[in-house]
Amino acid sequence: MRYIEPHGHMVSRTTDDYQAMVTAGCAAVCEPAFWAGFDRSSVHGFYDYFCQLTDYEPKRAAKFGLPHFCWLCINPKESEDVKLAADVIGIIPQFLDRPTVLGIGEIGLNKNSRNEMKVLEMHVDLAARNNQLILVHTPHLEDKLKGTRLILDVLKSDRRIDPARCIIDHVEEHTVQLVLDAGFWAGMTLYPESKCSPSRAIDIIEMYGNERIWMNSACDWGISIPLAVPRTALEMRKRGHTPEAIDRMIYQNPVRFMSQSPKFKLEA
Ligand SMILES: [Zn+2]
Repeated sequence: MRYIEPHGHMVSRTTDDYQAMVTAGCAAVCEPAFWAGFDRSSVHGFYDYFCQLTDYEPKRAAKFGLPHFCWLCINPKESEDVKLAADVIGIIPQFLDRPTVLGIGEIGLNKNSRNEMKVLEMHVDLAARNNQLILVHTPHLEDKLKGTRLILDVLKSDRRIDPARCIIDHVEEHTVQLVLDAGFWAGMTLYPESKCSPSRAIDIIEMYGNERIWMNSACDWGISIPLAVPRTALEMRKRGHTPEAIDRMIYQNPVRFMSQSPKFKLEA
């Protein structure tokens, strides 16, 4: 089996996880900027984090033969301080030329607040001005549907944004159609407890097809399973999906989306 982990917060994982992922067939990992589990106190904390994502973490992954790419932003959870967010967005351009940066993400909404909306719009503008791909985090539970609608409205109202270059992550049964109908890519985040379980993800593929959709495991600092993607692939096999359909879902689709950035290259 070969697969891509398109959304893994590897800075919070151990080298054992890297080893297990490569053993399971992982061919590349992509790491969106995320909340650290605590609020960073200044723009300097973000500067260091962006250095970690663009320099140290690719080197750590390379020790296991795994190509590592990343996305940069200030996470929606830290968007309440609009001044801090503006300062962080101000330092991102100096990192955009680094060889493994794929785009702006994971931006989006957490509690659908007014300040989060402001910061989302600032990020979308940053991506548009710098011709970057966009990776979007959608809120959880009762905030998801409303938040997804608000996010799609922001993206659709900016004429510079091409939906085919944006992925809306953490979709569930009640938001996937909305995302796909508007021409965006959809991501399903596999979690053992909350969010999308493997069986729900496979239900979604069976109902909505596998054209513009990928699966990821989050691999964050909370309870998550770094091997969720290959395990879900095994589950797909049990449910009668063909090897070609599985490969498309866990390898070809993420490669197709990410290859819209000239920096995303895998060795043959
Ligand atoms: Zn994430």
